[in-house]
Amino acid sequence: SPVIGVLALQGDVREHLAALRAAGAEARPVRRPEELAEAGGLVVPGGESTTIAKLAAAFGLLEPLRARVRAGMPAYGSCAGMILLADKILDGGDGQETVGGIDMTVRRNAFGRQNESFEAAVDVAGVGGGPVEGVFIRAPWVESTGAGVEVLAEHAGHPVAVRQGALLATSFHPELTGDHRLHALFVEMARGGAAGHR
Ligand code: GLN
Repeated sequence: SPVIGVLALQGDVREHLAALRAAGAEARPVRRPEELAEAGGLVVPGGESTTIAKLAAAFGLLEPLRARVRAGMPAYGSCAGMILLADKILDGGDGQETVGGIDMTVRRNAFGRQNESFEAAVDVAGVGGGPVEGVFIRAPWVESTGAGVEVLAEHAGHPVAVRQGALLATSFHPELTGDHRLHALFVEMARGGAAGHR
């Protein structure tokens, strides 16, 4: 099964590596284009999307990331990672770049204006065993989605988990909860299973 990379420029990289390993994957940090080339799937962690985007550009990773995602590499983004996988960003930092791939518009810090951080039970389609504990930290929400995007979960009337083909994104941080079901879903997607739409 494929090695899963975790984009290791900024953010909660170690937590994603641990969650992927707990879900049965071989996981490695990715900082260089050569490391990206060896990865069969990629997690973009939570953190600060403006910083991750700037560092990706500085490390020569932005174009390789776009090319791999376009070519169908499975990818999962949590929070800042969701923002980086969005085709369009609202309330982005000045000239904020994105990797893109998911036909959606996300609004940065959308929940954070009222509540800097909160937890909520979230029912995620395709994840059995009851709701996941959603940890929202200055989280984005999904403002709108294109026809090819499947909304897997909503909170307060806004999509907070989405999937488009081999791309998965959540507003919240399952890597911080010790519940590895979303990582297991992504590992299954990266293995070529959990395919298609329900
Ligand atoms: N607000 C952050 C951003 O815009 C995301 C926060 C997070 O990843 N917890 O990148």
